[in-house]
Amino acid sequence: MNISLKFKQILIGSLLKPFFKQYCLLCAAHNAGELGLCNPCLSDLPYHSAPQCPQCGLLSNGLICGSCLNLPPHFDATYSLFTYEFPLDSLIQHYKYKNMLPLANAFASLLHTHKPIADTLSHKIDLIIPMPMHSARLKIRGFNQALELARIISKNTKISLDYNTCQRVRYTPPQASLPLKERIKNIRGVFNCQQKLYGKNIAIIDDVMTSGASLNELAKTLKEAGAAHVECWVIARTLAKLHD
Ligand SMILES: [Zn+2]
Ligand SMILES: [Zn+2]
Repeated sequence: MNISLKFKQILIGSLLKPFFKQYCLLCAAHNAGELGLCNPCLSDLPYHSAPQCPQCGLLSNGLICGSCLNLPPHFDATYSLFTYEFPLDSLIQHYKYKNMLPLANAFASLLHTHKPIADTLSHKIDLIIPMPMHSARLKIRGFNQALELARIISKNTKISLDYNTCQRVRYTPPQASLPLKERIKNIRGVFNCQQKLYGKNIAIIDDVMTSGASLNELAKTLKEAGAAHVECWVIARTLAKLHD
């Protein structure tokens, strides 16, 4: 490249920089890094680092919990970056309902570099599948928050993204409005896989895991289609047990 042109680009870049200064999404400090959060806010987030059940992510002594032993879920493991509490809950609400897509970059980068997930990458995940959204809901919201996360994770990890094989074929009321038993009934049979997934190791991407009913139903559908191993990668996990 022509040296004077390069010099001009550097000069323009440095002149414009102050106008594009990154403000922290949480505290509006001026020194937010690439993820849009400043270091103190980033380290104050509620990371899910307490000993937990490796299968469902709920608190335990680090071994498989009683509920998973009694009624094993269809997914084999759960990795959650955060617990679903302040200020993470409002960040996720902003991301989902206020279309704050820049947060997708922050969440996705933090998720796939989360140590337990980075370690599991070596177990050879073949496919990343985002939690499917029904087309009617997609029309209302304008984007599938799980798909946006999955796109970035797939790009950064070079693991294939598949958002076509498995679809949500039935429109259901939002899970958040229902008690646990209703959630399980509400979600039954809503997914359909159009192709076989023989022997695949799959990571399902979702934003929040609450009762785990949707992830469990999707894992069931993926296993019925032949998947060998299914794990959940979520941004946040609620830890309070739901009342049934
Ligand atoms: Zn901050
Ligand atoms: Zn468990």
